Amino acid sequence: MLRIKNARIVKNEELKEVNIYVERGKIKDIVPGDEALLFVKKEIDAKGNVVFPGFIDPHVHFDDPGFTQREDFETGTRSAAAGGITTVIDMPCTSIPPVTNGLNFDYKLNIVKSKAYVDFAFWGGVTPEQVESGEYKKSLKELKDRGIVGVKFYTISGMELYPRMSVPYMDKAFRLMKELNLVCAIHAEDYYLVDYYSHLMQEMGREDPESWSEGRTYEAEPEAIWSVVGITEKVGNKLHIVHLSTKEGLNVIRWAKTHGVDATTETCPQYLIFTAEDFKKMGSILKIAPPLRKEEDREELWRGLKDGSIDFICTDHAAGRYPEEKSSPNIWKNYAGIPGTQLVAPTLIHFGYHSGRLNLTEIQKLMSENAAKRYGLSLQKGAIQIGYDADFTIIDLDKEWTVEPSKLKSKGKYSPLAGKTLRGKIYMTIIRGELVYKDDEGVIGEKGFGELVKSKVK
Ligand SMILES: [Zn+2]
Repeated sequence: MLRIKNARIVKNEELKEVNIYVERGKIKDIVPGDEALLFVKKEIDAKGNVVFPGFIDPHVHFDDPGFTQREDFETGTRSAAAGGITTVIDMPCTSIPPVTNGLNFDYKLNIVKSKAYVDFAFWGGVTPEQVESGEYKKSLKELKDRGIVGVKFYTISGMELYPRMSVPYMDKAFRLMKELNLVCAIHAEDYYLVDYYSHLMQEMGREDPESWSEGRTYEAEPEAIWSVVGITEKVGNKLHIVHLSTKEGLNVIRWAKTHGVDATTETCPQYLIFTAEDFKKMGSILKIAPPLRKEEDREELWRGLKDGSIDFICTDHAAGRYPEEKSSPNIWKNYAGIPGTQLVAPTLIHFGYHSGRLNLTEIQKLMSENAAKRYGLSLQKGAIQIGYDADFTIIDLDKEWTVEPSKLKSKGKYSPLAGKTLRGKIYMTIIRGELVYKDDEGVIGEKGFGELVKSKVK
């Protein structure tokens, strides 16, 4: 039996001092105050820091196998462990082959499981070709049986092996997903608008950061969300919009939520901290898709987190080779993505909690509870409750430290927060009762300790 002592957990918007007892990786008991049970063999001292249920990053691209020059499961999950993330959910499209059937799922699992420092789940995929041939009827069932949390679609895609889905194909696939009770996550930017204006910018010889923002035109996001909400409204499946960036996109989701559509959404730290103006000044390091928006969008996203219309936070962790893929003077030649899983928790404490935008209960929901519920990981993850996995993110709320990209565990050693002093630091990361990261010792977990987590949605 393990005891985590001097723990302060968030309960009813207050901090409560408790001892947490852990047996065989599960929470056995939560006892208020400081009384010790006799049969404790091992102790971890949280030293009065705040103990959250293990944070989940429900949207990462760890590129393994296939694009491991950018990131792999070892470096990706090490960065998660150091960032207090106890479970990551990896996207199906940034590995080769994409996770589009049972065989590809098994192949990927076999390669990544010996590299994982934290627990992980997978997103599945369907290609237009599979819908065309009817193969998706078999492949989606295979993936469901293997425990995927949902399926990811793109309304626009630059990926050769994972093309965009058109409305008729989405309608067909959504119908099967409804039967299988699978969430469909959508990268929502209208193909026609973005394709035309992005090409136009390049034909005009534009290479500046603003041309990227102008090419991926603002209206493309709300437009695409309206389209998929339109399909979901007819089919009745579960919809999730990934990395939301616009106020108007959020308004469409609010409309959907109040009109009986089962829609959720997420946003990322980059959209909460930076705007198109910062991108103009800082250049490629902030190149992402969808692009950064205006101040009023940034403000509205914070409001969405507060009022619950945005359900949770992810990083969309996507590391480009640095500096090679992030330093061309031509913005179009740079990689779109930021590795963020190591920094999301302290970033939220600094910009969310200390600025008074979010309280600790909200942060707990946005970083753990809500994603676990949406993706069928609850009963195991997402709460400090008896019988749940003993996953904890322990944070020293007031410790200040400065972001040094060279020290990040990701292969992509860059961050738009480079040199920034943050208030709030990961003190410990504990997964199934094992200490995998400690502030003064670094990552001390074992490679291969991370386990596949399956969605329990029937
Ligand atoms: Zn993504």
